[in-house]
Amino acid sequence: MAGTIKAIRGMKDILPPETGRWQLIEQVAREVFDLYGYQEMRLPLLERTELFARSIGADTDIVAKEMYTFADRHGESLTLRPEATAQVVRAVLENRLERGFWVKKYYTIGPMFRYERPQKGRYRQFHQINCEALGTDAPELDAEVIFLLVDILGRLKIEQVRLLINSLGCPECQVDFKARLSLFLAAKEGWCDDCRRRRDTNPLRVLDCKSQRCQELLRPAPMMRDCLCEACAGHYARVLELLGRAGVAFEEQPRLVRGLDYYTRTAFEVAAVGLGSQDAVAGGGRYNGLARDLGGPDLPGLGFAIGEDRLVEILPPDCGQGRQEKIFLAALGTAAREVALALLQELRQQGLAGEMDFDDRSLKAQMSLADRLGATYTVILGDQELAQGQATLRHMATGEQEQVPLPDLAPRLLKR
Ligand code: ATP
Ligand code: MG
Repeated sequence: MAGTIKAIRGMKDILPPETGRWQLIEQVAREVFDLYGYQEMRLPLLERTELFARSIGADTDIVAKEMYTFADRHGESLTLRPEATAQVVRAVLENRLERGFWVKKYYTIGPMFRYERPQKGRYRQFHQINCEALGTDAPELDAEVIFLLVDILGRLKIEQVRLLINSLGCPECQVDFKARLSLFLAAKEGWCDDCRRRRDTNPLRVLDCKSQRCQELLRPAPMMRDCLCEACAGHYARVLELLGRAGVAFEEQPRLVRGLDYYTRTAFEVAAVGLGSQDAVAGGGRYNGLARDLGGPDLPGLGFAIGEDRLVEILPPDCGQGRQEKIFLAALGTAAREVALALLQELRQQGLAGEMDFDDRSLKAQMSLADRLGATYTVILGDQELAQGQATLRHMATGEQEQVPLPDLAPRLLKR
């Protein structure tokens, strides 16, 4: 006999009760985005491969080995989105949203796909909450975007986090930096195979290598902040100053780069305690050249992505458990079930959640069901009670019971 069909490796079912934690995170994120003037975009999961190849960069891990790319029935190369920024910028340009007088602020929530080695905190379908702001290079916007991220994490009571920050400069400073870095990389041996190739194609990517050995070798490498031009150095200093004034704790991390080529100037990451080696819960930065790379006008912008799967892991355990107040209606017999069904509808209309049994179980079985469902009150409706126009109301935690006339039941329960 053939076995049952399983989900694809690296892709998981997200099931209740854990879904409550996902809902809470998204609800808090939506509230915060709204407070900061962001609006939601819902974008396709599939895009033309070219969009990512052109923006993320050919020699990045994502484009070189992590994309789910295939030809559709007409032979067009399509890719399941590995990240959202390129696609948000694509949507902005395509829909001419960049026109107008002010900063454009968008967020998007949904799955991303990368063909990586599955492990704790690393999946092939994972989920991000993305924030993108376009239209100004002002360091105030960088600060505001970081405030927003810190705000979401704070409201979710994620406390043990470190905000790491760096500046990647502009293309001009990067020329100088890449030249210095290339000299440094060429003068040393022992790099992994990937990095030996990256030395020639895209030296910045070496800084992002996950190999312990390469990271050791990189210790004395030149640092971007020593190569920043005056404008970039000033921009960076101002961002740090604004964060400091607002009391946002950060650590400068001069080796921080991002895994995508389009980043310029401010780059940041949030690392969380308690996640082991996949400890980045969010990453982001500025991408002033991205719109132009995609054939659009000069449109400076920045954003971040929160890794929702990792955030769920570190959310305090008592979060996202959903509604606490629930009523159970234990009805005995057809007539009682009919009354119970109507009463339940009345309660729900008033905003009280409740359930009942439909299968004629014994009172004992229904009481244990009520217990397992976590009901705060159980209403017991039997023939005798019905005849008297009453029901028994039982407080589950104390076991206290009383007789309540049927018309009083809904008002009584609602008063709690
Ligand atoms: P990492 O260094 O962990 O590979 P990254 O730099 O590739 O992360 P980004 O592209 O910046 O990640 O994505 C932002 C966030 O999305 C990360 O900080 C992380 O929380 C999450 N993330 C990235 N890849 C995965 C994955 N394969 N599975 C789960 N979450 C992921
Ligand atoms: Mg990665």
